[in-house]
Amino acid sequence: MKRIYLDHSATTPVDPQVAELMMKYFVDYYGNPSSVHYYGREVRKALDEARTQVATLIGANPAEIAFTSGGTEADNLAIQGAAKAKLKKGNHLITSAIEHHAVLDTCKHLGKNGYELTILPVDEEGIISVDELKKAIRPETILVSIMHANNEVGSIQPIEEIGKITKQQDILFHVDAVQSLGKCSIDVKAMNIDLLTISSHKIYGPKGVGALYIRKGVRVSPLMFGGAQERKIRSGTENAPGIIGFGKACELAGQRMESERAHLTSLRDKLIDGIMSKIDNVKLNGPSGSKRLVNNVNVSINFIEGESLLLSLDMIGVAASSGSACTSGSLDPSHVLLAMGLSHEVAHGSLRLSLGMQNTDEDIDYVLEELPKIVDRLRAMSPLYTKTSC
Ligand SMILES: *Cc1c(COP(=O)(O)O)cnc(C)c1O
Repeated sequence: MKRIYLDHSATTPVDPQVAELMMKYFVDYYGNPSSVHYYGREVRKALDEARTQVATLIGANPAEIAFTSGGTEADNLAIQGAAKAKLKKGNHLITSAIEHHAVLDTCKHLGKNGYELTILPVDEEGIISVDELKKAIRPETILVSIMHANNEVGSIQPIEEIGKITKQQDILFHVDAVQSLGKCSIDVKAMNIDLLTISSHKIYGPKGVGALYIRKGVRVSPLMFGGAQERKIRSGTENAPGIIGFGKACELAGQRMESERAHLTSLRDKLIDGIMSKIDNVKLNGPSGSKRLVNNVNVSINFIEGESLLLSLDMIGVAASSGSACTSGSLDPSHVLLAMGLSHEVAHGSLRLSLGMQNTDEDIDYVLEELPKIVDRLRAMSPLYTKTSC
């Protein structure tokens, strides 16, 4: 069976060049990078190079990168670490309603443990209002955490504008850039970002490795204590093959960014236009044009359960994702779609197709051929559907 992977926002395959490089650091160069002998020194050199590759992609200095076990840990380190380090100054945090759970749940946890939390709403396109952010700022505000591009609907937030405000008001600014890395250009200096989360497995690197950019001079309290690695910010023997693979993935992402943006944008727009013209009673979730992440398609197909749609697609070899919180084993509709004002019913019928490097025009043709048939079949079984309703 033909198989088409359209779930790149969940994870990406490891690039063969990345896997090949990592292999060397599993079997040949296996030393502990803290060791002074040859085995250690060789790994230390490769880690230094990876740190430079990661820093280069986001406009940072290598000394400002702390490697972690992934995006989730980097989000936790940024928010918990900054909140703790800044507690003398204040206890108020600001985030948005559409953050990844690694940010939202960390903020909510702090909100129940001595901190004050403001969760900003978003508009129907999934974008926050900079005016509302300004109004939410108090003398005790210590941290603003707003994601760059949303993982479900692809909305891109006005990061530069927010960075100007937080800088002027001397508030720390954390950005979860896991989805935008390699797809949007990121310059932490120009954007006035203090803390930036990135993850390897969303950019064709290995799983279980990520990084937090910590602007020089910004203090974050560590979550873990031990061997004092990563300048004491993240103790624990480094995941050397993972970090080295992440570095290579960042280098490749930088080289490919321009051509990939063009490739993904063209596939995305073809897919969106095709779905909108071939299926009735369908709604595009998230913004269009330049405010949308280049690889994201998210639609609500009325009178259909997202889960049944996913199963039907899987049966014909198409891997996609729904807007339900399937990770938690429940079928709660997505907090992102609800925050954008969708009803539970419409949110339940949502489908996310996230494109990647290896997808082709033929993949899109196949989906546009098969998806309307599946929708017709499922709707034929739905008591709520009549062709004329809207
Ligand atoms: C995937 C993702 C994360 C979590 O990263 P992991 O490396 O899987 O822990 C955080 N934020 C966003 C926006 C993501 O898409």
